[in-house]
Amino acid sequence: MVKNAENLNSRIWLSAPHMSGNEQEFINEAFKSNWIAPMGSNINGFEEDLENYLEHDAHVVALTSGTAAIHLALILLNISKGDDVLCQTKTFVASVNPVTYVGANPIFIDSEPNTWNMCPDLLEKAIEDRITIGRKPKAIIVINLYGMPYNVNRIQQISVKYQIPVIEDSAEALGSRYYDRPSGTFGDISVLSFNGNKIITTSGGGALITKDEKTKKRALFLATQAKNEGVSYSHSETGYNYRMSNILAGIGRGQMTVLNEHIALRRRNYDFYYNSLNKNDNISFLQESEGCFSNRWLTCVLLKTETMRDDILNLLAKNNIEARPSWKPMHQQELFKGLPAYINGTADDLYKRGLCLPSGSSLTTHDLTRITELIKSYFG
Ligand SMILES: *Cc1c(COP(=O)(O)O)cnc(C)c1O
Repeated sequence: MVKNAENLNSRIWLSAPHMSGNEQEFINEAFKSNWIAPMGSNINGFEEDLENYLEHDAHVVALTSGTAAIHLALILLNISKGDDVLCQTKTFVASVNPVTYVGANPIFIDSEPNTWNMCPDLLEKAIEDRITIGRKPKAIIVINLYGMPYNVNRIQQISVKYQIPVIEDSAEALGSRYYDRPSGTFGDISVLSFNGNKIITTSGGGALITKDEKTKKRALFLATQAKNEGVSYSHSETGYNYRMSNILAGIGRGQMTVLNEHIALRRRNYDFYYNSLNKNDNISFLQESEGCFSNRWLTCVLLKTETMRDDILNLLAKNNIEARPSWKPMHQQELFKGLPAYINGTADDLYKRGLCLPSGSSLTTHDLTRITELIKSYFG
């Protein structure tokens, strides 16, 4: 097939939505049955699909966003005004914003270099310190960043030892596994996102994963305005309008038919980048530690220097290619200035030198070659 010049240099996005072609059928079903509402067969079907995929007695509630799911997770754990919550500093702001929605205080914990996720040693130090001053933290929010599982064994041990529940933010990690068990099944409560650039998307959406049906029911209640039983619209606590639309859940059902394919394609992207760039001493890759299987939502690399990272970011931008610095740590944000933070320098360094390469499941070999050739050309 001959492509025209424009196509050859067309925009390459960081992580574009990738439809299977089955989505429209589920949406049509919603229209035919007139369930144009935040309830209906697509929502129930999407939740079942996710529960079957995750196994391990996962109970799933489909919501309007991952952010809403984290908010509800905090409420379900009774986190409220004045409580302290331990948060991985290296993440997207949506992991932490809900902590302030409930009036609690984030305390930031730095990362370990091998997974880029929460450092268990620092976490334990923070807990000990806070207990000493009579402020035992109420929850731990840990991330599977870019699809890479965090050190589940150690974080779990600490959670059990100190009796502090874990919220597992798996927004970027549907399909990842830790010793062959799916990410999103480890937290006391776990969270998924189906935002436009995630591994599967409903254009906007999220899910909360609980370990039992009772908590799921409670989440559903809170997500639908906390209306008491009966016909009289009686309310005795604050509720939210967080339920996913039945139309969007139709997109989710279609996306679930290709989730495993998308994981394989994203892992192929990683392998392509690794094989063509790994010999360069200036570039290192975020690799899988023992027991970790990453969905490779985004392929992440570290450049030797910040200048190199910025140069490559600019070079790609000039060539109509979207790449990104890795997340700016929360303890560096104006928004969270002055909050307690346990820092070892890892997140700061990853932010300076880290680069997320285009990683969508619809990238072609031509796209990937265009990207790697540009990076190689920078190093001459
Ligand atoms: C995308 C994302 C979220 C939020 O999900 P939304 O569905 O966009 O609200 C939370 N945490 C992380 C790490 C994310 O990447």
